[in-house]
Amino acid sequence: MTAWDSAFLASPPLLGEDDRLPPAHKLYALRTLPMGEIKAIGFDMDHTLARYRSPEIDELAFKKAARLLVRERGYSPWLLELGYDPEFAVRGLVLDGLRGNLLKLNRERQVVRACHGSQPMTRPRMDAVYSRRRLSTAAKGFRSIDTLFEIPESHLFAQLVDGLDRGLIKAENYLQLFRDVRWAIDTAHRNGEMKAEILEHRAFFIPPDPQLALALDRLKRAGKKLFLLTNSEWTFTHGVLSHLLDGQDEAHPRWTDYFDLVVVSSRKPGFFLDTPEAKPLEGHPGCFSGGHTAWLEFMLGAEGEQVLYVGDHIYGDVLRSKKNASWRTLLLVPELERELRLLEAKAPDMRELLRLETARRRTLRRSSVLLDQWKRNRVRRHVLGPRLSSDAAVALDQEAAQLAASVEALQRRAEVQNLEVDRLMHAVEMAYNPMWGPIFRDRDEQTRFADQIQQFACAYTGRVGNLYMYDPLATVYAPLPALPHERLD
Ligand code: IMP
Ligand code: MG
Repeated sequence: MTAWDSAFLASPPLLGEDDRLPPAHKLYALRTLPMGEIKAIGFDMDHTLARYRSPEIDELAFKKAARLLVRERGYSPWLLELGYDPEFAVRGLVLDGLRGNLLKLNRERQVVRACHGSQPMTRPRMDAVYSRRRLSTAAKGFRSIDTLFEIPESHLFAQLVDGLDRGLIKAENYLQLFRDVRWAIDTAHRNGEMKAEILEHRAFFIPPDPQLALALDRLKRAGKKLFLLTNSEWTFTHGVLSHLLDGQDEAHPRWTDYFDLVVVSSRKPGFFLDTPEAKPLEGHPGCFSGGHTAWLEFMLGAEGEQVLYVGDHIYGDVLRSKKNASWRTLLLVPELERELRLLEAKAPDMRELLRLETARRRTLRRSSVLLDQWKRNRVRRHVLGPRLSSDAAVALDQEAAQLAASVEALQRRAEVQNLEVDRLMHAVEMAYNPMWGPIFRDRDEQTRFADQIQQFACAYTGRVGNLYMYDPLATVYAPLPALPHERLD
C-alpha cells in the first residue's frame, strides 16, 4: 500500500521555505532544481502563461470542429446537436483510432480502463481486446491526449463512434472517423476562426493571473534571461500576452519587455529536432518566427542544464526538450489544483482505505500461512500413512480439518474486506471523474501519465505564478529517492 501511502501521507516535506506554502502554490520537484545555476528560463504560452477558461474553450473547439465536419466533409447535421460533456475525457488517456476506443493505461502501458465510443468497457471485454499486453502508443492509429487541447478531440471522436455504431452516420471504419476528427480539430486551430473568437472575448476566455507578472519580474530581477517559445503565431500570441501582461508593471509596460527573446510559430517538437532558420519579425526587435535549439542557446548564452523550460505538453515541451536539448523542465499541470483539493477532501477516506487494505493483506497472509500448514499436514499423512499409529492419524486429520476451516473463514473474510476496499475505492475515484478516476493513478497503481511526468519533468506545478513564491537563486529539493529495502520506517 505504499503507493496510496506516499500520495498523501509520506510525501517527505521539502526542507526550506516552501514548507509553509499551501499545496496549490507549491512546485513539486522530482529532480533537485538548483535555481541558482539556471541562466535562462523559457515559457510556453498556451495552457502555460495563458490559462484558458475550461471547459468553455474546449466546447468552442468541439463545436467548431463539428461544424467543419458537417460543412466540409459531408457529415450528418446530427453532429451539430451534440452537447459537450466536460467530464468525458481527461489528460493522459490514449485514443485507439482503429477500434474506436479511449484508454487509460497504467505505468506498464496496460489498459486499466476503457470505453468504446462513450460506453464503458467491462474488464472481460478489455482483456479480450487488449489482453494484458504492453501497448505501444507510438503505433499507427493511437493518439495520446497530451494537452488540454486534445480533450474535445476525444469527445468528438467518441460521439462519432457512437453515431457509426447506431447507424446515424456513414463511414468506412473507426479509423476514418479518427482521421476526420483530427483534420477538423487541426483545421479549427489553423483557420483562425477559433482564435479570432478567443481574442474577441479574451477577457472571458483568458482570466488574468495577478501573480504572473510578479513571477516574471522576480525572475528577471534575479538576473535570469527570460524567453517565450510558443507554437502560436505572432498575432494570437500578441493578442493573448498583451491582454495578460501589458500595463501590469511600470518597469515592463509591454508584454515583450519581460522577455529577452520571443519565438513564435516554433513548431515544437520540431524545434528540438530540426534546424530551420529563425526569421526576425519586422518591427518587433528580439522577436522571431521558427528557429531551433542551438540558435536559441547561442542567442541566450545558456545551454543544456542552464536552461529551464516551462510548458504544459508532456511530449512537445517536456520530453523533447529534456531528451534532445538536455534542458531542465517544469511541467505545468493546470489540473493539479483540483486534484489537490480532492486529495485533501478525500484524505479521511484514503486513510480508511489504507487501514482496510492493510487488514485485507494481513488476512490473506494469515490464510496462506495456514494453507501451507494444511498442505504439509497432508503430505505427512500421505508419506507416513501406514507407519502412523491410529491416534496420531486421527490427531493429524483433526488438525487438517481445523486448518481447512480456518483457511475457509479467512478467505471469506478477505472477500468481504475486498468488497469494502472496492466500494470505498470506487467512491473516492468517482469524485475525480466518474469514468476515469484520478489522472495520476488508478486504484493502487500509477498511470502512464504519472510515469511520463516522473521520467521527464524535473518538477511540476499548477500555474506559472507559483514561481513568484520561490527564491530564484535557491535550490528546490526533490524528495530523496528510496527503494523498498531502503525505507527507514
Ligand atoms: P503552445 O502551447 O504555446 O506551444 O501553442 C500551442 C499552439 O498550438 C496553439 O496556437 C494552439 O492553437 C495550437 N494547436 C493546438 N492543437 C493543434 C492542432 O491540432 N493543430 C494545429 N494547431 C494546434
Ligand atoms: Mg502549451
